[in-house]
Amino acid sequence: MANIMQLDSTYIAGTYARFPVQLVSGKGSLVWDAAGKEYIDLGSGIAVNGFGIADDAWLKAVTEQLGRLPHASNLYYTEPCAQLAAMLCQRTGMKKVFFGNSGAEANECAIKAARKYAAEKHGPDCCTIVTLVNSFHGRTLTTLSATGQDHYHELYQPLTPGFAHIPAGDIGALIELAKTTRISAVMIECVQGEGGVVPLSAEFVTELAEFCAENDVLLAVDEVQTGNGRSGQLYAYMNYGIQPDIVSTAKGLGGGLPIGACLLGEKVENVLGPGDHGSTFGGNPAACAGAVSILERIDDALLEGVKARSAFIFEALGSASVVESVSGQGLMIGVKPVKPAREVVAKCIENGVLCLTAKDRVRLLPALNIPMPLLQKAVAVIRDACAE
Ligand SMILES: *Cc1c(COP(=O)(O)O)cnc(C)c1O
Repeated sequence: MANIMQLDSTYIAGTYARFPVQLVSGKGSLVWDAAGKEYIDLGSGIAVNGFGIADDAWLKAVTEQLGRLPHASNLYYTEPCAQLAAMLCQRTGMKKVFFGNSGAEANECAIKAARKYAAEKHGPDCCTIVTLVNSFHGRTLTTLSATGQDHYHELYQPLTPGFAHIPAGDIGALIELAKTTRISAVMIECVQGEGGVVPLSAEFVTELAEFCAENDVLLAVDEVQTGNGRSGQLYAYMNYGIQPDIVSTAKGLGGGLPIGACLLGEKVENVLGPGDHGSTFGGNPAACAGAVSILERIDDALLEGVKARSAFIFEALGSASVVESVSGQGLMIGVKPVKPAREVVAKCIENGVLCLTAKDRVRLLPALNIPMPLLQKAVAVIRDACAE
């Protein structure tokens, strides 16, 4: 293990502050390191392994497709991506899907679709996309520009122009901005993930949706982290009773393989034509076959289980005196401990539980089907780690 850590720090770009753990295998919500130590996984590879690690049905779907046709390019038709797109549209009311390989790529497509729609309909100066302060939309230069956190921007100037940021909850700021700036779209995360697991208020989301409908401004919802069952609904916007024009998703959709999807609603379904956008690996048959297996199992029974597990965590940690507050939706939960979050996470690792941080919070993103006994055990470890 020391050797791998050394190789990694010698040869891999230093973009990640890794924990000193080398993972070698996993099954469901358990994962093992190079020394054979077992951990309960409450991070799911950052909301990716929605049904746990190497979940049987997903593994079967992926390996069968790998043996049949792992990749084909977008010059030909293949079944898994067509089937997945149909399922996504049928369950959301969206009309068309573009597939890429990551959340950032899904958001790039959302941004291109919004720009082209507004340029064609309202003229090229109607291009500003409004996002929220404290948002996170990805690491490519354009999605970084969309991200409303200055500290990500500082050394990467010039950024892609055409983005403005308003504080979450402040509809007045949007109305004010619209007096001087022509707005093509508003893009939100219903629960700001990287920003500290902060849900938007129902009132604000309703006001945004009304503003967008009245002004022919597209409403784009970034469901990269919140999506695919994590919020207790298939997509978190469904907790708010709105119908977005664009939905981007990734992470949990793939169940462990890279995939991103941009769902286009009625207004924008035909905006992108041949040559307007593309992605060599987009719609990859193996990734899509896995995603079909994931999506078909996100049903009412699973979502009830997500809500029950969520209620348990809120109750168990919300009542602890060493916890200041618990935020989030479904199984996307932020715990603000009295002591620094990073110390709590380090203590949890020591005691066999993997969890994450988001700003000053301990972030929990367990598998949607994590067995209750494992979850109870892990929550006890977290509570102790907050106390020590
Ligand atoms: C993770 C994340 C992204 C970026 O996804 P990548 O797959 O890392 O490109 C974008 N938006 C949100 C809300 C995310 O949580």
